[in-house]
Amino acid sequence: MTISHTEENYLKAIFKLAEKGQKSVSTNAIAAHMQTAAASVTDMLKRLAEKDLIAHEKYRGVQLSASGERMATALIRKHRLWEVFLTEKLGFSWDEVHDYAEQLEHVQGETLINRLDDFLGNPHFDPHGDPIPDAEGRWSFRPQALLATLQVGDKGVITGVEDHRPEFLQYLQQQGLVLGATLELLERFAFDQSVRIRAGATQIITLSEKATQNIYVKIS
Ligand SMILES: [Zn+2]
Repeated sequence: MTISHTEENYLKAIFKLAEKGQKSVSTNAIAAHMQTAAASVTDMLKRLAEKDLIAHEKYRGVQLSASGERMATALIRKHRLWEVFLTEKLGFSWDEVHDYAEQLEHVQGETLINRLDDFLGNPHFDPHGDPIPDAEGRWSFRPQALLATLQVGDKGVITGVEDHRPEFLQYLQQQGLVLGATLELLERFAFDQSVRIRAGATQIITLSEKATQNIYVKIS
């Protein structure tokens, strides 16, 4: 079966939306995610249903079929492995790799991606802390919580980000808040839920609530 890049992107979008909340994903949610008109989403969903990649129930939204889910998982695997390659081997920073990976994820060839996986030492997480499924489609899991949910006095290590936009990643990088950085929650201000943290051994940083809603921490 041949499948276009656009079709692949839809599968990935449906997978990500389903992961975030309800099992069935609405046409409107997909349209918002893909930044396109609902009418073109409907056309695309018809095509994906004809290829048995999704199940489409009127008024209830769509779900990936088993083969659709396998394809979406393989795409995410490729995307995240290329992101590791770009940061670790080509020296890109974590805010630069996503757009390249959006293109590289469409390169076909299981042998290529499995060799890349081995070459990188079979990483379980990408440069943003997101899990990378293995060749069998199994996901790694690690317990983590949003920084916004920590209590004063909690200590932890940054494990990931919810917001992947370059502006946010650069903002974190500038303050030394990269994956693996340690922090301690010193104070939360009732006024606007902003927080003061100690990052590393000595640096004191104030973060907005918006920032704390987008940083994942493994509490130690
Ligand atoms: Zn990415």
